[in-house]
Amino acid sequence: MPETIYDVAIIGSGPAGYTAAIRAGQYGLKTALIEKDSLLGGTCLHVGCIPTKALLFNAELWDHLKEAKEYGIEGVDARKLNWAAVQDRRGKIVAKHAKGLEFLMKKNKVETIKGFGSLTGPAKNGVFTVDVKGADGKTSQIKAKNILLSTGSEARMIPGLQADDKILTNIEILQLAEIPKSLVIVGAGAVGVEFASIYKSFGSEVTILEMLPRLVPVEDEEVSKELARAFRKRGITAHTSAKVDKVEKTKSGVSVTFTVDGKQQKIDAEKILIAIGRKPRTENIGLEKTSIKPDRGFIKVDPWMQTSEPGIYAIGDIVLGTPQLAHVGSMEGMVAISKIAGKPGKPINPNHIPGATYSHPEIGSVGLTEAKAREEGYNVKVGKFPFTANSRASIVGQHDGFIKIISDAKHGNSRRSHHRSAGHRTHRRGRHRHGTRSHRGRPHVDHSRPPHACRSHARRHQQRVRNGHQYVGLVGLGQASRLPCLLARMLESTEGAHP
Ligand SMILES: Cc1cc2nc3c(=O)[nH]c(=O)nc-3n(C[C@H](O)[C@H](O)[C@H](O)COP(=O)(O)OP(=O)(O)OC[C@H]3O[C@@H](n4cnc5c(N)ncnc54)[C@H](O)[C@@H]3O)c2cc1C
Repeated sequence: MPETIYDVAIIGSGPAGYTAAIRAGQYGLKTALIEKDSLLGGTCLHVGCIPTKALLFNAELWDHLKEAKEYGIEGVDARKLNWAAVQDRRGKIVAKHAKGLEFLMKKNKVETIKGFGSLTGPAKNGVFTVDVKGADGKTSQIKAKNILLSTGSEARMIPGLQADDKILTNIEILQLAEIPKSLVIVGAGAVGVEFASIYKSFGSEVTILEMLPRLVPVEDEEVSKELARAFRKRGITAHTSAKVDKVEKTKSGVSVTFTVDGKQQKIDAEKILIAIGRKPRTENIGLEKTSIKPDRGFIKVDPWMQTSEPGIYAIGDIVLGTPQLAHVGSMEGMVAISKIAGKPGKPINPNHIPGATYSHPEIGSVGLTEAKAREEGYNVKVGKFPFTANSRASIVGQHDGFIKIISDAKHGNSRRSHHRSAGHRTHRRGRHRHGTRSHRGRPHVDHSRPPHACRSHARRHQQRVRNGHQYVGLVGLGQASRLPCLLARMLESTEGAHP
């Protein structure tokens, strides 16, 4: 039988890899998807976005039940959390979607190959050879005209520590058989604050230690402040500008020594979660046999996701300079495949990437923060709408948070925009019907009129502020979970590789 030469071989089946595979299949490319783990889906599906969002949903329900009386619902005082059932539900959701991915690969005629993929060097006569080492230790080879690297990332660890049953990363913390009585979380990025939120809802004493001066440091400063306030109200302790000096294991858990303002403190807890960022998984994949020179493990790409080695593309968490988010990886995959397939597409504009943090309260953002807008020389005008004054917020009993529009007063009525935003998840549906790109390359959003008594209604108040000004950012915080998804979809439709 003649040897199969794939049009594209994709190494890694996380959201970057599987989205690229589906799109490649749709374009009629002969596609192989190589995955080292037994199931498709990567970090996001198995130990990232999906299981955390499942737990966050349980946590939200649990929190609502605590306040049931206020909503006229009685008889739930004797409520009991069945943690095993919560975990079981999470597992079932993940398993269902992993199965769904297998089905999607078949449907799109993508061949999945189990094993650890590594490059053997540049293409010879236009064809690459990839080594695939199976679980049995045997290595086979596959040939492809193009390669997509989508090997993802893993949790960074504090030097000298190793994950186990007391020192946890995002993987171990999802497998806990019991809710810890106390939990220290090192790192207040999205992962850290989401787990803080989950375990506080379920009754853990949570302490956050963040090295930088504020929580969620990539977000607008006001968002950080408001989150700190909301977390304080929830009883979550947070130390910022805190340097962890030592983590020691004790009989009952861990003892953590840290320094704030030159003063050393100690805290004991049952578990510690290390959430200090994610390192790209680019070791042992044969980069050294190509011209690709990783930068601290990250791979540099051009706007079409091409690496320095012709025919090799990189997408997802391993890419240098784009945020490590699932929707970013997915879009990058589609951009790369559009290039390989010779189909119409558009490179990603890094300024149009929405961010989402699904803690309680939630954060959604897109565009520039106020500080960044000032730094970039915009004549910044800020419009802010706190949810305290919003009727929908009263209805759902969620007054924490605000929406903040950062606009540039200098540019008249153009409304060319970057956006950062947040609002209640279900009450954004009437918004953001479509977006178009302005001539300056900023997303221009045509706002449909929001339904009344909807949180996005708050945004209408912003119209007064923003009329006659160019948006440069929209930031906010509240119970906002699905807004970022809507923004992502909207930006995909304006920025993506869709024909
Ligand atoms: C706790 C947590 C919560 C998160 N929540 C969100 C969220 O709500 N929203 C969001 O947008 N992002 C979220 N993220 C980030 C998101 O999970 C990542 O951005 C996303 O998974 C990256 O996708 P990827 O395809 O690049 O890599 P991964 O998802 O890491 O997938 C890489 C895949 O490649 C495989 N692989 C690696 N090396 C090889 C090899 N040599 N051969 C074969 N296979 C290989 C791996 O086994 C893995 O399956 C979260 C992350 C964490 C940790």
